[in-house]
Amino acid sequence: MDELTDPLIRGDRRALSRAITLVESTRADHRTRALALLAELPSRQALRIGLSGTPGVGKSTFIEAFGKMLTAQGLRVAVLAVDPSSARSGGSILGDKTRMELLSRDPNAFIRPSPSRAELGGVARRSRETVRLCEAAGFDVVLIETVGVGQSETLVAEMSDLFILLLAPAGGDELQGVKRGIMEIADLILVNKADGALRDTALRTVADYAGALRLLRKRPHDPEGFPKALPVSAYSGEGLDLAWAEMTALADWRRNGGHFEARRSEQARHWFLSELRAGLLARLEQPQVRARLRETGEAVARGEADPDSAAQAMLDWLA
Ligand code: GDP
Repeated sequence: MDELTDPLIRGDRRALSRAITLVESTRADHRTRALALLAELPSRQALRIGLSGTPGVGKSTFIEAFGKMLTAQGLRVAVLAVDPSSARSGGSILGDKTRMELLSRDPNAFIRPSPSRAELGGVARRSRETVRLCEAAGFDVVLIETVGVGQSETLVAEMSDLFILLLAPAGGDELQGVKRGIMEIADLILVNKADGALRDTALRTVADYAGALRLLRKRPHDPEGFPKALPVSAYSGEGLDLAWAEMTALADWRRNGGHFEARRSEQARHWFLSELRAGLLARLEQPQVRARLRETGEAVARGEADPDSAAQAMLDWLA
């Protein structure tokens, strides 16, 4: 058994950190150890909540207040970030360590910034593995945070049980700015900053989105009224308890109907295929494979080989 396994299962946060560093490593020996470690972990289940919102809508403030509310109820909360900007540039929108100061000092919380310097596919794999490590460490809720950039929302939705979109109060025009695809994957739209001078605008924004959500096709596996739009204030804490009640109600409904497990099975199948595809593409990048690809490509270009049979011969050689 790996030396990290036992402390990890007991919920030791240092062991969890070290295990995450291990799954984030690209070194071949680390990879082997990480896979062995993952294989011997017990399967425990947390509620995986994806949370997306553009910079400035109040994600950190919301997660801090929401996380504190949950830990006050005795729940253990892990927060992970999937940050495509850090994947590209090494700098990050989400990974800043000074965020969520209160929550980061809470013994029942664990916060991990996004792994940097990796392509988005690699970030996705490590995040999925990190979710599993957090579950094995006994966390009840795993919040997976992302910014609304590129494919990151879809990636996060595909590793979550529930997907939440956090928005700022705004005039009706801006409703157009939220891509329809994101509305379709959101289970709950939370309009933050429903306090002070912004309260009325926030309530109007909620009504606008509630209207837009009603126009979407009802999801066969969800109860009447979902997806929902609700106002919250990360500052005052108003609406956070209701948002949590809606999340647990939806999760319970799906559990009772078998849809919760069905969704996880589908996600597992999806990730298996996407890992396989990524692995096959990586093989095409190996030097001797690239050399052969180049030679064959040139032969095809010179008309010495037919494209289809050359491709088939290449596949046979790879197999
Ligand atoms: P993030 O970039 O999405 O993580 O957003 P932050 O949590 O850093 O918040 C962006 C700005 O919005 C900050 O100035 C916050 O103080 C402010 N903010 C966050 N939540 C609220 C809220 O509930 N009400 C109000 N009025 N401002 C908020």
